[in-house]
Amino acid sequence: MTDTTPVKCVIIGSGPAGLTAAIYLARSDLKPVLVEGNQPGGQLTITTDVENFPGFPEGISGPDLMDAMKAQAARFGTEFIADEVTAVDFSVRPFKINVGERLIRTHTVVIASGATAKWLELESVDRLRGKGISACATCDGFFFKGQVVAVIGGGDTAVEEATHLTKFATTVYMIHRRDELRASKIMQKRAFRNERIKIIWDSIVTEVLGENRVTGVRLKNVKTNEITDLPIDGFFMGIGHHPNTDIFRGQLEIENSGYLVTDRFICTSIRGVFACGDVQDKRYRQAVTAAGTGCMAAKEVEAYLDECEIT
Ligand code: NDP
Repeated sequence: MTDTTPVKCVIIGSGPAGLTAAIYLARSDLKPVLVEGNQPGGQLTITTDVENFPGFPEGISGPDLMDAMKAQAARFGTEFIADEVTAVDFSVRPFKINVGERLIRTHTVVIASGATAKWLELESVDRLRGKGISACATCDGFFFKGQVVAVIGGGDTAVEEATHLTKFATTVYMIHRRDELRASKIMQKRAFRNERIKIIWDSIVTEVLGENRVTGVRLKNVKTNEITDLPIDGFFMGIGHHPNTDIFRGQLEIENSGYLVTDRFICTSIRGVFACGDVQDKRYRQAVTAAGTGCMAAKEVEAYLDECEIT
């Protein structure tokens, strides 16, 4: 089914970037259509407390923050589609966006498709995914009540996951490949003073052990080459994220690292297609910067529509 009249703007993604763009565009009466994707609300829906989003001195839960942003975007008339974009065609104008059975034509696009957690590339990880291996402590921590788990990684995600897991597990190992954490100082302090978190330094995981269920991980100390088996019941990924850009390959300029290339007005390699949030930001990756670039995208959409005299 093809929509007969082109819309002014389609927003792809429903994290802080996409929803902020929607709030601005809807308030300007541009009736944005927002395609929510396979994780409505984005990565913040699987985090716990957000303590650094301005305006919430006591912190706010990720899901609550996203619900509030969605309600704000809905209030001004954003049309939400609870589905995924399967293909785009930026070689024609208006652009074409496939969402399920529907083909939407649009004068502009805001890409806010975000990023997804990275998984260790090991055969044993693929095999035991969902059988004691997870990339979301908030979603799955509860299943490890009274058990022993490990988190791989040394950044803020890993510390956040480990800290959350101490609510359930008796011991949480953090396995890190170097001898210092990458996480911010405040998060490091949190890890160091939590008695349930034990950090295993200078180590990589070479294999996850277990037939149908995780029973342990095989570790290699990268300084001594010593191999040890660590018995655990659950294993969590905390090694960062990769941007969701697969459907734009061949259509837009993409960096080797997978991030969309944008100029300082966050325009992609095609005029009228803008990108905001984690899909184009490998440096900051914060909710507030995603929201900030979502606002920029909306302002640029407005300027572009004015310039092209699209009313
Ligand atoms: P980062 O890229 O910061 O950290 C990834 C960690 O995983 C690093 O310690 C890295 O090791 C390790 N790692 C990467 N690949 C592998 C691998 N193949 N094997 C073993 N270890 C690996 O990602 P994060 O997701 O932690 O953070 C991303 C951004 O999001 C940051 O800007 C962070 O500040 C922010 N963030 C903020 C939060 C908050 O404020 N509450 C919560 C979560 C994230 P090495 O250090 O050696 O490179």
